[in-house]
Amino acid sequence: MDKTYEKDLLTAAGLAQDYLGNVLEQSVFPSEAARAALTAFDEDLPEVGRDSTETLNLMHSKGSPATTATTGARYFGFVVGGALPTTTAANWLATAWDQSPSSEMNSPAAVKIETVANRWLLDILGLPADSGVGMTTGATMANFTGLAAARTALLSRKGWDVEVQGLYGAPEIKVIVSEEVHITVEKALSMLGFGKGRVTRVLTDANGAMLLDALPELDDLTIVCTQAGNVNSGAVDPIEAIAKRAREAGAWVHVDGAFGLWGKLLADRVALFEGIELAHSFATDAHKWLNTPYDCGIVICHDPKFLHQAMVTSAPYFREDGANAPKDMVPEFSRRARGVEVWAALRTLGRQGVTAMIDRCCENARRFADGLKALGFEVRNDVVLNQVVATIGTAEELAAIRAHVEASGECWFGPTVWKGKHGIRISVSSWRTTAEDVDRSLAAIKAAKQAVLG
Ligand SMILES: *Cc1c(COP(=O)(O)O)cnc(C)c1O
Repeated sequence: MDKTYEKDLLTAAGLAQDYLGNVLEQSVFPSEAARAALTAFDEDLPEVGRDSTETLNLMHSKGSPATTATTGARYFGFVVGGALPTTTAANWLATAWDQSPSSEMNSPAAVKIETVANRWLLDILGLPADSGVGMTTGATMANFTGLAAARTALLSRKGWDVEVQGLYGAPEIKVIVSEEVHITVEKALSMLGFGKGRVTRVLTDANGAMLLDALPELDDLTIVCTQAGNVNSGAVDPIEAIAKRAREAGAWVHVDGAFGLWGKLLADRVALFEGIELAHSFATDAHKWLNTPYDCGIVICHDPKFLHQAMVTSAPYFREDGANAPKDMVPEFSRRARGVEVWAALRTLGRQGVTAMIDRCCENARRFADGLKALGFEVRNDVVLNQVVATIGTAEELAAIRAHVEASGECWFGPTVWKGKHGIRISVSSWRTTAEDVDRSLAAIKAAKQAVLG
């Protein structure tokens, strides 16, 4: 057997095990010293190549301590998720393959595994089995891709070929978003030529869900961008009602469900997601709540024909049997076989395991909310999913509490502004987080509160 790769692979495996074996006790946010030591990377470009073991060792000795412990159990910043062990390992093997799943001709294995992952995703998310699915870098690009399909659908029905003719002189599309729209949807809209300043913003209720009464008139040149899982509150828009109206008017409904779409698996949240499948396109992430490594977003389009029309490269022939090349369903041509990790996560957890993971995160979010209330915090959202927004004291005092917790290394969460008021945002999205981790974090918050507020 050829051993060319062996030394580097075993070195990396050893270092990765050392990292992951200690990550639960690593300072959740890197210390100032660890961050300062990153200057070790400020080398000049070597004229002569350096030793590979020494290169990997530098990565571990100086890089690892300055990571945020998002694969640990007590990182609650943003909505990042961890990475399930099998998904990290599957990612390594897929990297060893070095396959681009552009088409079957590029990689029969990668395309097969991604095709199965796509089918399983529709199954577990309860979306129509004949939908089109594409794997993107994240929800930003999944939103972009879904909205590109929307643009193609609405304009082609008016006899306008946007892929060929562009947007100049095209029938004008009205875009409706929520006042709580995620910044990456705005970015997607600007990249698509819609202009993020040209949108109509719909008011939301106290928890950040779109107010149905505030929804403007819809027509067959309207795209409504809804949200399943507000990044602060976890709120889900009344998508069924919006989609019913949209379908009557010929409008298109897109759902940004970056993490929240996975809430659809919760038995006690059925009402929140009822009828969501009436929407036309969806964006979600695997690297957040499904706990695969970066990066993996997923775009789902009810009518795969529009996804294909918007993304196709060479042969413009749509295959009715669903076997369209991945490169013709997403923006990227060459890319890594990111669906492998989705497949590995779904296969090793199964429907029950994924549901239990999502459920556990929500339960621990409620535990957080109760614990924060007991500490005198005001919980400012209805904890419908895995997100908690809380506040106490002045903005300065709250920042001091956050800094205190950060320095303790016990846990990490970020600042936010919710409905015009400063707060902290806690997202429970890692497979590793237990009730004990929540209690340990609450103890750190309690100590910080006492230090700052007495
Ligand atoms: C994270 C997030 C996005 C962007 O997803 P990326 O994977 O970071 O590109 C979009 N919308 C919502 C609601 C999110 O939480």
